[in-house]
Amino acid sequence: MEYKYTGIILGKRDIGETDRIYNVYTLEQGKISAIARGVRKGKAKLAGHLENFYLVDLTVMKNRGLGNISSSIVENNFFNLHQDLESLKEVFEVIKIFTRLINDEEKDNEVFALLLEYLETMNMVNESQEDLSVFKIKKNLVTQGFLFKLLDLAGYRAETNKCVKCHNKFSKNKNFFNYDLGGVVCKNCLNNSDTMVPISDNAIKIIRIFFQNKLNSLFKLNITRKETNELERMSQNFIKWIL
Ligand SMILES: [Zn+2]
Repeated sequence: MEYKYTGIILGKRDIGETDRIYNVYTLEQGKISAIARGVRKGKAKLAGHLENFYLVDLTVMKNRGLGNISSSIVENNFFNLHQDLESLKEVFEVIKIFTRLINDEEKDNEVFALLLEYLETMNMVNESQEDLSVFKIKKNLVTQGFLFKLLDLAGYRAETNKCVKCHNKFSKNKNFFNYDLGGVVCKNCLNNSDTMVPISDNAIKIIRIFFQNKLNSLFKLNITRKETNELERMSQNFIKWIL
């Protein structure tokens, strides 16, 4: 049977003498794996159409087990992103998390759209001529926005509107983020046995902005390294707790 997919290449690994297995997040079937046979031979054209994070149209021949990729047409190679090693490293780390968080063969249009939006935005950030330090902060903000939105789609929305324990609106200052409960806990509900860390009012505000906005509009935010560092620490800890 022949299958057609639109997908984003998540990663690859070598098997056998000349073959390679690709992980692809597809619009039609979610995360799948497929083999490209002979792709590591010198003249194999297919390899150039199956680079990490490319958006491709794939044809896969499949009966039982893993399918064989018979053709790939590149729809977007995210050229600017691939020119910048640091951004590429950042995306690589995020895709590793994505791959672990998202189950195999669960189709989800929203997850697909978010992943595509992330790559498009990271590609766009690299087109902009910002000051290098500002540029790094904005890239990281986009990455954090992607992770919080992805966690939301995976069923782990960080609650930042009301206290996860008493469900009351919390006031400014001295709030905490509880990883077990996946949200902000107000100071009245503080309990020593909980796994929680202080969360700043700004971090709460930015997470709310993530949920209300597209990733590419995050460029407009004026943000400091301190704020993105706090968000990064939070997303990393939250993800560690989930995985
Ligand atoms: Zn409370």
